[in-house]
Amino acid sequence: MKIVTVVGARPQFIKAAVVSHLLREKHEEILIHTGQHFDYNMSEQFFEELDIPNPDYNLGISGGSHAQMTGKMMIAVEDVLGKEKPDWLLVYGDTNSTLAAALAAAKIHIPICHVEAGARTHCMTNPEEINRICTDHVSSLLLASTQSGYDEMKKEGLSKRGILVGDPMYDAFIKYSSRLQIKDVVLHMLYGGHITIPDEYYYMTCHREENTSDDKDLAEILKATELLDAPTIYPVHPRNKQRALKLREKYGFNKVILTEPVGYLESACLVRNSKKIITDSGGLQREAFYAGKKCVTVLDFVCWPETMVGKRNELSRPIAEEIVDKINHKQTVDNHYLPFGDGHSAEKIVMALEHEVNK
Ligand code: UDP
Repeated sequence: MKIVTVVGARPQFIKAAVVSHLLREKHEEILIHTGQHFDYNMSEQFFEELDIPNPDYNLGISGGSHAQMTGKMMIAVEDVLGKEKPDWLLVYGDTNSTLAAALAAAKIHIPICHVEAGARTHCMTNPEEINRICTDHVSSLLLASTQSGYDEMKKEGLSKRGILVGDPMYDAFIKYSSRLQIKDVVLHMLYGGHITIPDEYYYMTCHREENTSDDKDLAEILKATELLDAPTIYPVHPRNKQRALKLREKYGFNKVILTEPVGYLESACLVRNSKKIITDSGGLQREAFYAGKKCVTVLDFVCWPETMVGKRNELSRPIAEEIVDKINHKQTVDNHYLPFGDGHSAEKIVMALEHEVNK
């Protein structure tokens, strides 16, 4: 079986890290990196640390409007698909890279396998929701990470092409999150220099368009960190670096530690050792859950409802007092509740593809 896999963003590298090697044990995989994330610490570092095979093609496409980025990627991916003539296209998640690759393949009748199918926020102003829905509807094999994802597929008449395989992010967390010890994590501050990691800290990521496209929301989120009882480590996405630096300076927010993005081994280690988590990332919400850490998600929708059970993850508006109030709510953790699978979803993904080819 010959598979073309398309990745482009940080969470996709993490998923490919657990699937690619397994796939390559018996099959040929051609890896395309669209270039959506391109800084060393958003891309190459992941390939190095997680030993992801080198991309066969690097399209070098990033930035611009959603349509510009998606359009350029479609043209470039179509070229590669025409040359490589794979049996399947494999895509992960919900980025513009996912959508562009899926649309390009669908039009030239290459079957598509979508990992993380069925995830829904039901919020059509969330750009990733459009990517998820469109990708699912043109895919031939829809692999859901959770039961709620599978149920969403049923509602949209897609479940005949769907299988529940579990969450490859969970596989990755099990495999990699203990590789580093907190003493080995080096944080590069945005304002230069390094920092010693405090004994107690909150861990935060915040980069969604919804929270970072103007000063107001990000300023409120940063204000919340001032009100917490420990410092907050916040690796800042390149998209909102300037804004974060400006707001910290303007309002004198001193309890937040703004750092460059960290690698996945570092991030997973920071999750495990944190007090609690504040985020707007789909991946980090789940990692907080895997690690049993209380999480507040600063969004008005949830993609992973399983994380909300027992108040383990709560939604908040970008209002400092609300974030702090919710982060202080007690959570109830039931260690037998394992909605993200058994840590072997990568095997199930490969088996599902093999089953389709042998049909
Ligand atoms: N992450 C990372 N370094 C960072 C911040 C986050 O490795 O500086 C990891 C995080 O642990 C999670 C993933 O990136 O595994 C989430 O990616 P992102 O927030 O970019 O995307 P989303 O999950 O929202 O799709």
